[in-house]
Amino acid sequence: MHFTVLTIFPEMFDSFRAHGIIKRAIDQKKIVVATINIRDFATDRHQMTDDRPYGGGNGMVMKPEPLAAAIRAAKEKAPSARSVLMTPQGHKFNQQMARQLTAFDELILICGRYEGVDERIGDDFIDYEISIGDYVLTGGELAAMVLIETVTRLIPGTLGGENSAEKDSFSEGLLEHAHYTRPRNFEGRRVPEVLLSGHHQEIEQWRHESSVMRTLLKRPELLQTRNLSEQEIDVLKKWYRIIKELI
Ligand code: SAM
Repeated sequence: MHFTVLTIFPEMFDSFRAHGIIKRAIDQKKIVVATINIRDFATDRHQMTDDRPYGGGNGMVMKPEPLAAAIRAAKEKAPSARSVLMTPQGHKFNQQMARQLTAFDELILICGRYEGVDERIGDDFIDYEISIGDYVLTGGELAAMVLIETVTRLIPGTLGGENSAEKDSFSEGLLEHAHYTRPRNFEGRRVPEVLLSGHHQEIEQWRHESSVMRTLLKRPELLQTRNLSEQEIDVLKKWYRIIKELI
């Protein structure tokens, strides 16, 4: 998958490209993370990419001409690419959206700064608007990294184990089960016995139960829209009985 990031701070991506799963995916040629400096497309003497807003008010707005030229340059290199504007006003990003984005071979991610981009860029140059959450960052770079990393994890082979991402939280509509590693006893807190038993089926059952109960306790709304399996209903009934006895 080929990501082209349009930004006025391309150096922010140097460290992002140099570590962990992203580095490995780049080395294995599963992804490319290219950057284009929007400032290179500014035509005035001072290479300005922003200007004052019409109508007055605080802050600056990203000028349309350098952005448009940068998007055109990115499209020349990646003609089939969809262009995505990172904006807090976009569709809220989630695991399902990340999975849908894996269908594309090329994505252009546009990072705003200041008060955002001139509205007219949205009309002709943007296919999707994506927000990473209901809060406001200073720029779109961190949002673009979040998107790239989440999508990359879903590309087969990038995580080492082929199935690793399938068990992640949200992949199957539930939060992932609890994890434990050594030592067996950490400051009096012991690893659940079943995980030491070597019984594969019982371990799987325990993990599924852990997954259902964690979802109930931490994100109950995820269960409300879920088509619960018989096994999941049994888990909930079992804990309902236990809680009823307790109270
Ligand atoms: N004035 C804008 C508004 O209220 O909608 C916010 C602009 S923000 C300070 C500057 C840039 O950061 C945006 O153009 C966008 O690219 C990026 N950004 C901020 N929050 C974001 C979010 N939650 N998701 C994606 N991008 C975000």
